[in-house]
Amino acid sequence: MKIPYPIFSDQKILVLEKNDSQRTTLIMYLKVIGVGTVVEAANGHQALALLDGNAQEFDFTICDLRMDGMDGIEFLRAAPRAKIGRVIFSSAVDDELLSSAEEIVRGYGIRLSGRLSKPIDFLYLKSLISPVLNPQKAEYVYRKRLQFQCWTKEDLSIALRRGQFVPYFQPKLDFLTGAPVGVEILARWMHPDHGVIAPSQFIPLMESAGLIDQLTEDLLCNALGCTKKWYSDRPEISISINASPLTLENIAIPNRWLAIVNAHQVNPERITIEVTETALPKNYRGLLESVTRLHMHGFSLSLDDFGTGYSSLQQLSQMPFNEVKVDQSFIAAARKYKRSTVILRSMVDLAKKLHLRTVAEGIEYETDVTLFQELGFDVGQGFHFAKPMSGEDLVRWLLIEKMTPRRVPNVISIPNISQLAKPDRGHKAFMWG
Ligand code: C2E
Ligand code: CA
Ligand code: CA
Repeated sequence: MKIPYPIFSDQKILVLEKNDSQRTTLIMYLKVIGVGTVVEAANGHQALALLDGNAQEFDFTICDLRMDGMDGIEFLRAAPRAKIGRVIFSSAVDDELLSSAEEIVRGYGIRLSGRLSKPIDFLYLKSLISPVLNPQKAEYVYRKRLQFQCWTKEDLSIALRRGQFVPYFQPKLDFLTGAPVGVEILARWMHPDHGVIAPSQFIPLMESAGLIDQLTEDLLCNALGCTKKWYSDRPEISISINASPLTLENIAIPNRWLAIVNAHQVNPERITIEVTETALPKNYRGLLESVTRLHMHGFSLSLDDFGTGYSSLQQLSQMPFNEVKVDQSFIAAARKYKRSTVILRSMVDLAKKLHLRTVAEGIEYETDVTLFQELGFDVGQGFHFAKPMSGEDLVRWLLIEKMTPRRVPNVISIPNISQLAKPDRGHKAFMWG
């Protein structure tokens, strides 16, 4: 007697796999997991014919990369986006090739959900597929996404007027001494109903709604107020603020920001402006004028997310930067691929030749610390040292850090203070070591 597989969802999955036995195993696994409909194809042409002739849309496509005739990349380039859903690669090719393939298909606007190596591991496959089989979770995720996407300009204006955007601070530590040399201001929206909201949920809308200048000025004022408690005692600590090119292209900015720092009796030399590339400037000459004038008045300039923007190198040659912050995607890649460390080493060489300070962000593990010290980076920032925290928590963090003797040539020996820290509003405020 044939026992039917339990069906937990009406999800539809297309399995594109050249090897007959692997395809059979994969289909059996998916049915055991509880997928409602699994449609199979042995090569790209068959799959395209299926998509062409069939009105059905798939929630997922599991795609073999290495196939005869038409390979996985060619298939995905030709396939109708709306019909293939999210894509999971299944392949025996090496990790670096898989990463390149992922980059290419992302460029086609395809959403990727993971990769499967061969032979297929059942539990891993289940972990990739299961979240979408749970309708409650899917509904929750959908609602969450909807909630974040439907902010209006009016919502943001009201929140600005009500002072709901506050600065969080994340320390930057010297790789050689282990001492904090800076703090970065990171925006957080303290929403009365939805809790703490991350900048990725509102910065792009702030930029397109023309509210980003106001947000940056509010954060700067607020942050400088917060730093009063330690500003004079810790002259070695600089304060970094993120600035969108859309803000900096306004040539009135240098005078406005000078007025703000003067009003708070803060020396501009203590402020670093991290120029982000979240939006392309429309007025490049204005941007150049603002950063040059800010620099003339003593502000330091940092090129944020270095290595990711198309114009990074051009900006580096034309603007008076003091620092480059290498994007954390390079740090993540360096954990996996040897080739990435070669790229990082040349970034450090380039920066050193230009007399720029090098900052590595996204330091999450002790092994990252060792690697980046060895690569010659000057400063590190990341969850391994400290997570972004409120102004009050920063005061306590700095106090504990000062009391703890740790001026040693290796930050690994910094003691763990997470137990000493009082959590702030239920959020994990510090994490160190
Ligand atoms: P960013 O300037 O590159 O800031 C670093 C981001 O990485 C922060 O995310 C920080 O919380 C996160 N991060 C720090 N250490 C680690 C780590 O070890 N691992 C991982 N995975 N992440 C880490 P956050 O606060 O969500 O900010 C995201 C981005 O939003 C920032 O990226 C920045 O581009 C933008 N942003 C934040 N605040 C402002 C602001 O006031 N103005 C503007 N224009 N942009 C801002
Ligand atoms: Ca930044
Ligand atoms: Ca970054």
